[in-house]
Amino acid sequence: LDAAPRAASGASALPVGLMAPHVSPDDALLSRLSRAGIRATWWQLAHLLDEGQDWAASGTMERRTAFKARLPDTWSAEGPNETWHAVAGQLLGAGLDPATTALWHARAAWVRPSRLVAAWLAQPGIRLLPGAQVARIGNDQGQWSAFDAEGRCLAKGDRIVIAAGYATSAFAPGLPLQAVRGQVMYGHGATGLPPHPINGDGHLIAHVPDGIGPLWLAGSTYDRDSRSTALRDDDMRDNLARIERLHPAAARALQNRQAHGQMQAWAGVRCASGDRRPLVGPADPMQPQGPWVCTALGSRGLSFAALCAELLAAHWHGEPLPLPATMARALDTRRLSG
Ligand SMILES: Cc1cc2nc3c(=O)[nH]c(=O)nc-3n(C[C@H](O)[C@H](O)[C@H](O)COP(=O)(O)OP(=O)(O)OC[C@H]3O[C@@H](n4cnc5c(N)ncnc54)[C@H](O)[C@@H]3O)c2cc1C
Repeated sequence: LDAAPRAASGASALPVGLMAPHVSPDDALLSRLSRAGIRATWWQLAHLLDEGQDWAASGTMERRTAFKARLPDTWSAEGPNETWHAVAGQLLGAGLDPATTALWHARAAWVRPSRLVAAWLAQPGIRLLPGAQVARIGNDQGQWSAFDAEGRCLAKGDRIVIAAGYATSAFAPGLPLQAVRGQVMYGHGATGLPPHPINGDGHLIAHVPDGIGPLWLAGSTYDRDSRSTALRDDDMRDNLARIERLHPAAARALQNRQAHGQMQAWAGVRCASGDRRPLVGPADPMQPQGPWVCTALGSRGLSFAALCAELLAAHWHGEPLPLPATMARALDTRRLSG
């Protein structure tokens, strides 16, 4: 059931997104979770989508300060870690000064989220009911029903999962969810942009095949506790300033396009949890037989959506978990109840 007239109309309507690992010197929990998530998504991308059109195994270069470029002691240039310090040739190829401090993530990709959502919805056993805004969930003798604002029953089922981004909070008021508005800028056909995505304080993706020419996108802003998707001129300026710091040559190419009115913007609302990790599990951690949630994917929907869905299915069907138990617990709503 989706309130919107079509699927992928919320934050997942982002024109193109970046999937890149979180990396830290102590290989912290979030870093390991992000790699597990990327592994789960990668399989889906490789099997369901058209590489080069819907996604690309592009890798990405992440700019960091020298202090923050430290990697775990056991990692090396030879791997098997798939992230290492970018060398001068890679930096020059990206159009950056060879003295720049950056990491190269080989296991990173750009993805068109709407294509991934469409491929998932095309799997057997799925029926989408668009324009179905759930106002209330009820239980009658073990059967769950979802009702609209007029009290009409939209659907019934043995199980129910609420995956409504920040709107999940209406059904699970006890969960620590926060809305984080974000705006990106995008356009078509700019020249002089790097051959693969660049991230750091912001990100830039270019050369994404699209009907009217190659798509580029850069962002994003972070506005905590804002749920507005109205576009703001200030955010456009912020994003331009961000790209100036991230990739000065690209910023010059894009400023030129802004001057000619060839730039567009898109805004959406992320949903974040208190500890910035997704929330998968019973909406009320004390009621495991009640409705479940799958939300708080934050800025990493592409890294976490597939993994969270696998985790939920494994719990429901009593299958082996796709993660070691401590990592699974780190995503579970029941971590909140101690
Ligand atoms: C500016 C910006 C840039 C981003 N960049 C990236 C990126 O580069 N990489 C990345 O991985 N992630 C990125 N994200 C995050 C990513 O978009 C989200 O993590 C992801 O889209 C969340 O997916 P979701 O399905 O949980 O929520 P959404 O896609 O928001 O879907 C929620 C759905 O719930 C429906 N709904 C709400 N209430 C109801 C109701 N009562 N009844 C029925 N349906 C309801 C809505 O209609 C909507 O379709 C970005 C987000 C923003 C805003």
